Amino acid sequence: MWVMRTQPLMRRRDFLFAFTAATVAGISPAAVRAAVPSSTQRVLWLRRAGTSDEIAVPFCIDGRTVYYPGYNAICWLMRDRHVAAAEGYVRIDIVEIEALWEVQQALALQGVRRPLIITSGFRSVQTNLATENAARNSMHCYGKAADMYVDGISTRDLFDACWSRAVSGGIGYYDSHVHLDSASRRWWVGDLAVPVFDPALANIRGDSVVNA
Ligand SMILES: [Zn+2]
Repeated sequence: MWVMRTQPLMRRRDFLFAFTAATVAGISPAAVRAAVPSSTQRVLWLRRAGTSDEIAVPFCIDGRTVYYPGYNAICWLMRDRHVAAAEGYVRIDIVEIEALWEVQQALALQGVRRPLIITSGFRSVQTNLATENAARNSMHCYGKAADMYVDGISTRDLFDACWSRAVSGGIGYYDSHVHLDSASRRWWVGDLAVPVFDPALANIRGDSVVNA
């Protein structure tokens, strides 16, 4: 039987702390300015699709270590909302959070300063099983993936922003969103009706299609 290897659940104290951080974070002009590149402070600006949850919080303030109030708020926003918090609120891979931040920086350098809108973050096994076309061993189940879109730009442009990152990671292109995970470098097309893709890429995708 397949066994999920998620990170340990947070202690209740952490849970309450993160909830408070997310609640009071708010979105200020200063937070938006902080979402542009900085040598030490890394601010991630996220919104959860279909909710009013929005945060712009630092997960690193010294350029070296995790800043837990912000990190916990990000994990809270990316929780599995279909199950109880004790199951759905887990530690998201910091490499995944850094990857999301890098994508946001790539967009900011192009003048796009908007939140990444998360449609799916962590998924419990039961939520993943109920998710259409989801891979059984999806990186979402390990807290290593996010599905997202950004208002005002195409998923193709968001895909390109993900692809432009130097670090490894999996990138999936879908009509409605882009999947980004912190596993090995690979890519795939989830919705096959994507005429914007080059024929050369289309030839590759036959070997690369993985639902995730
Ligand atoms: Zn995904």
